[in-house]
Amino acid sequence: MDLKELIEERIAPFPIYQYEFLKSVELTFEPKVRSICRSECPMYGTTWSCPPAVGTPEECRARCLAYEDVLLIATVAEVADIANMDETLATRREHERITREVRDQFTELGRGTMVLSSEACRICESCAWPDSPCRHSDLMFPCVESHCILVTQLAERFGMDFIAGAGVVTWFSLIFF
Ligand code: SF4
Repeated sequence: MDLKELIEERIAPFPIYQYEFLKSVELTFEPKVRSICRSECPMYGTTWSCPPAVGTPEECRARCLAYEDVLLIATVAEVADIANMDETLATRREHERITREVRDQFTELGRGTMVLSSEACRICESCAWPDSPCRHSDLMFPCVESHCILVTQLAERFGMDFIAGAGVVTWFSLIFF
C-alpha cells in the first residue's frame, strides 16, 4: 500500500466532503491575489496567518513547491443564514480540527507537511503579530489565498463543489507533503 492509499484509508472515517490528491506543480500562483487581500480583507496585516506576515509571494510559492504532493480537502457545514458572518465563521472551527487530524495522519506516517487553510487564524483573541512570535505555530495554518492560490479556481479545476448548496458553507485546506 502506498502513502496515498494509507492516507485514504486513515481519513475514510473523517467527515470530509471531497478530497483530491494533486502535484504542487499543478497549482497556479497568482500574485495579484495579494491585492485582493490588501483591498478587500479586513484581516490583512492583522495576523501571522495573513500577508504581509507570511512572506512575499515568491517566498510563499517556494514554500509550497518545496513539497511534491498536495492533498486538497473540503468539508461542509449547514448554516441557517449564510450571509451571517458570525454563524458562518463559527463553522470554520470544526474544519480546522479536521484539517489538523488529517495533518496528524501524515505526521504519524513520518511525513513532514505544510498546511494552508481557509481564512485568517483566529485561535487567539488577539494575535501576537507583529510584536511577538505566533503562540501556536503548530496549530496555526496560513490562509490559502495568502499564498496566492485561488481556492475557487482549484475547486473548479479538480471538479470539486465550491458551493455545495443553499445554506451550506464549504471550507478548503491544502496539505502539502
Ligand atoms: S495562533 Fe494566535 S498568535 Fe498565532 S497567528 Fe493565530 S491568532 Fe496569531
